[in-house]
Parts: sequence; structure tokens; C-alpha cells
Amino acid sequence: MKRLTLLVKPAAGLCNMNCGYCFYRAASDSRKNEVMSSETVDELIRKIAAFGPAKLAVLFQGGEPTLAGLGFFQNFVCRVKESVLCPVSFSLQTNGVLIDDSWAAFFRKHNFLIGVSLDGNRRINDRYRRDKYGVSVLPQVLSAISVLRKHRVHFNILSVIDDENAADIESTWKYFKKHGFRFLQFIPYVDDVPGVTLSPEKYEDFLKKSFDLWYGELLREEYVSVRHIDNYVGVLMGRSPESCAMCGVCGSYFVVEANGDIFPCDFYCKDEDRLGSVYDDQPFAENEKQRRFVEESKIIHEQCEKCRYYVLCRGGCKRNRTDGFTKNKYCEAYYGFFEYAAERMERAAEVFLHG
Ligand code: SF4
Ligand code: SF4
Ligand code: SF4
Repeated sequence: MKRLTLLVKPAAGLCNMNCGYCFYRAASDSRKNEVMSSETVDELIRKIAAFGPAKLAVLFQGGEPTLAGLGFFQNFVCRVKESVLCPVSFSLQTNGVLIDDSWAAFFRKHNFLIGVSLDGNRRINDRYRRDKYGVSVLPQVLSAISVLRKHRVHFNILSVIDDENAADIESTWKYFKKHGFRFLQFIPYVDDVPGVTLSPEKYEDFLKKSFDLWYGELLREEYVSVRHIDNYVGVLMGRSPESCAMCGVCGSYFVVEANGDIFPCDFYCKDEDRLGSVYDDQPFAENEKQRRFVEESKIIHEQCEKCRYYVLCRGGCKRNRTDGFTKNKYCEAYYGFFEYAAERMERAAEVFLHG
């Protein structure tokens, strides 16, 4: 099936926050940060329609995508729906600061899935996630979530895990539970920043502890969705992982920058990674650079070839594969985690399948 998944950055690197760990700033600082022009929107939608996907998924991300304004999204969504015949799904990742009733009503109307960035309780979240004046944004984020709930918008919580909060996942879990958040996604902070970068030891500890918490909820019949665990258990149920980092191969989506430039992955958005532009003839057709990017991800390290957990792990995300793009720097963390949790994951898979 010809499926097209696009991660669109309508407001480029523009953001109304100044998070201490923002990895996107480094890639976007050298560029012109402007909202996607109506010409580029037209061109993008024309090229999507020409591609003729059997299924289309559009994920808006930033910077902070809502800075493009609600009018931008109303126009974009309406135009896409008019232009393609296939099923379309929309999602948007936000820091939550601008979300109000009108945004939430729009999200509900078009069945958006919203990812809200929140690292944990006030102490944890405020370490890095602050506005440009250094002020906590937690009250706005919680208010955004209650507005989303009021409008019955589907949302999940996206948390960055670094060396410090990895060790204290219990506090974060407790806090999320207190607020009734049942769909969680944890992203390891892997960029090289001393004291922030998640070390393999802390990551292993985090994976084990978060699994214990997840499994405990399952035993109490209070299931909480945690993306990486759902993916692992899903594989044991015979499903394909939906997270590209767990597929063992890249190339499942394209990033479309506000100026129309196309990149192969959100973590490969430097000038040298550029694949082309929506202004090219067939921007979503495979080109040599894209092919190389995908092929590199298929190289399997000899240790992975022999690993009993390869079916679950598949070598992990390419950007964490050091040693000539082949060995994952978190290998020991994954291996230790699988040794610890595989039996319970298999049991959970059986329960989900057969009750
Ligand atoms: S909200 Fe996102 S884009 Fe904005 S500063 Fe924070 S991490 Fe960066
Ligand atoms: S580098 Fe990682 S996040 Fe990027 S496409 Fe490959 S697996 Fe996915
Ligand atoms: S646990 Fe390590 S050796 Fe096993 S598949 Fe994952 S990265 Fe490869």
C-alpha cells in the first residue's frame, strides 16, 4: 500500500519557549525561521495529491507549530481533505502554551491526536521547560490539557528522559497518574550534553522501572499506554512496530520544513541531510540520497545478528548506532531490559491476545 507520512513544520524553528535541552534550535538557528508561505502550502498539497497515497498521515511539529496560527491549520486541513481521496489522519505536537477553546474545537472537529510535551511534576518539568523569560509554563500546559479534555480531544503526554529524571521515574509516573494521563511517550535525551544526556546505565534503569510501573498497572487492570512498551508487546503479538526506531529500518516518513525543504528524519535535518524540496518534480519519490539513508539503517551489527532479542529490538534507532552506524550505544541498556522484562512482556501479549 502506498502510504505517505509527513512530519510538517509549519512554523519552522519558531518557538515561544526556550527549553534548555532543545535539540531543534541547533539545526534551525542557521535558517530563516518563517511560517510556511501559502505558495509552499499550495505546492506541498499539489505534490501530495500527485503522489496519490492510499493513506496519508500528517504530523505537525516544530519549533512550536501552533505559532503558524489557527487560520493556517484551518486552511491546510480543509485543502488536504479536498485534494486527496484517501483516508487522512492528523496529529500535532505542542508545548501547550497557546491551546485554548478554539484550537481544541478545531482539533476535535478534525479528529487530531495531540501530543503535549510535559516532563513531569513542577520540579522535573521546570528544570528545562521554561518560557523565554525563564518562567514556568506548567500552569499553561495543565490548562491546555483541561481544555483538550473538555473538547474530548485525544492526547498523549510526551516526556523527555535525561540522566536525572530517568532515576526518578516513579515521581513522574505518580504525577501523571494523579492527573489521569493514560497515554505516555518517553523520549531518551541522546544529544551530547554532559549531565543531561541519558547514559546507558540510567536508561536501563529507567526501562526496567517504567516497565515495573506499567506492569503493576496492568495487574491492577488499570492499563496505561506507554509507547515503547506497547510496541514491544505488540511485536510479541505479531504486529509490526509503529515506531520507526523499533522497525530496524528508517525511511517511514519525510520531514517537510516551512520553506518546503525535505529531510529524511527529524533527527537528520541538517543542510547536508536535505533530500530535496516540495518544489521538485516528484519530491516523495525515492532518490539516491534517501536510498542511502535507508540502506545504512539496514546494516545489522554482528552482535545484533546473534542477539536473542533482535526481533524485539532490531538494533534500535539509527542515530544511536555508533561504531560506524551499526552498534547502538544503548545496546547494553536494551539487552539488560529485555532480560529483565521479556517474560512478563510475553505474558502480557498472551493476555491481550487471549484474555
Ligand atoms: S517547546 Fe520544543 S521547540 Fe520549543 S524550545 Fe522547547 S523543545 Fe524546543
Ligand atoms: S534515525 Fe531513528 S528516528 Fe530517524 S527514521 Fe531512522 S529510526 Fe526513525
Ligand atoms: S539488544 Fe543490543 S545486540 Fe541485541 S538487537 Fe538490540 S542493539 Fe543489537
